[in-house]
Amino acid sequence: MDLDTEEIKLSEKLQKMYQEFLIYVEQENVEFDRTESKKLELKLEEKIYWLKRYLIHLEKGGKRIKAGPDYWAQHENHKLIVEHGEDEQGNIEKDILFLWCVTCSDIVSSHVKKSYKNKEFEKIENHLGHEIKPVRKSHNSKTICLTCDNCQKNKVILCSDISDWFDEI
Ligand SMILES: [Zn+2]
Ligand SMILES: [Zn+2]
Repeated sequence: MDLDTEEIKLSEKLQKMYQEFLIYVEQENVEFDRTESKKLELKLEEKIYWLKRYLIHLEKGGKRIKAGPDYWAQHENHKLIVEHGEDEQGNIEKDILFLWCVTCSDIVSSHVKKSYKNKEFEKIENHLGHEIKPVRKSHNSKTICLTCDNCQKNKVILCSDISDWFDEI
């Protein structure tokens, strides 16, 4: 059996990072609004629990999470915002776009403008600053779409299929 050891290591690291962040949030409660802090704790617990299941999946020889649709599915029905990237000095980087999840305060994906025509980048750029929601075509559908809550026209930005195993873990 071929194990994706690189991804296993990375996921273990990520899990540890979220666990440390959770401990920090629990201890430093006073710095946050109480209900906001509790909400964040629950989101972190959810992420840690998901990573635990993902690690079991990987240790059974399962495939790696697919950038794009699988990440959107993790933020299904959450509130996302399209933002420009920033360099270390805080200057706007127009060739980088981020999908930022307001619900979990986390980056969902980043998109880099390439020299050739990158349709995905342009499609997302059209909705800069807009509120985006990942939704499935239907309840048990494997297809997930990024939809814009601010636009009536071109409401559906991108659609893609999630990994076959994604709903099973
Ligand atoms: Zn989210
Ligand atoms: Zn829009």
